[in-house]
Amino acid sequence: MKCKNCGGPLDASQTQCPYCGVRHEIDLRGIKYTNQDLHTDMMCPRCKVPLNSISIGEGELITIERCEQCQGMFFNPGELEYVLVNSIPIVYTIDRERITALKREAAGNNRESRYIKCPACAELMNYINYKKESGVIVDWCKLHGLWLDGGELRQLLEWRKAGGMLKYEQNQSSFSKMPPPPSTRLQPQDSSRKPKMDLETYRRKDYNENDITGLIGNIISEILFRW
Ligand SMILES: [Zn+2]
Ligand SMILES: [Zn+2]
Ligand SMILES: [Zn+2]
Repeated sequence: MKCKNCGGPLDASQTQCPYCGVRHEIDLRGIKYTNQDLHTDMMCPRCKVPLNSISIGEGELITIERCEQCQGMFFNPGELEYVLVNSIPIVYTIDRERITALKREAAGNNRESRYIKCPACAELMNYINYKKESGVIVDWCKLHGLWLDGGELRQLLEWRKAGGMLKYEQNQSSFSKMPPPPSTRLQPQDSSRKPKMDLETYRRKDYNENDITGLIGNIISEILFRW
């Protein structure tokens, strides 16, 4: 990849040219979105300027918050996975070499290693390795969602394209005590064959995977509703 301005060589996840300083919009390249240009009352945890809101997708739109300066983005629970799966719906194969290379690239990021505050509740967020093995370290508030620094969405999209999420899901199903029925076992992810999951499904999935207390909360609320 080359800088549009000066032609200098760029890494796939570089949001700013190291030679001329020009910013590159790489995270949302190829993704359908509309800039709502509204300044929200949330602040960028890195730049301390108001975040803008943008709508992503077609049909079922989701709204995320983004910083114009650093291109960081805030996703509520389930929204990131929704964007990843809808941007790259079909992944058939696992390219292990590419996954390893992406992990190495992510590890080489000069990520600012300090805790930042959740834009929604201002509590300090934790770090998590997204889906335990992507190598992309994101900031996580268990109530409000994930903060991605500029360039990290692109890394996760590349990781999904290389089969990283497919590999993760296969590992999950082989760890679980009840294997899926034979007809669905180890089938490639193919959105044309199964109905698309809606945002609510991803929200639940995020809670289940990231935080057991979220799951317990869901169960309790379901029990309460039943009575
Ligand atoms: Zn440049
Ligand atoms: Zn920022
Ligand atoms: Zn929060």
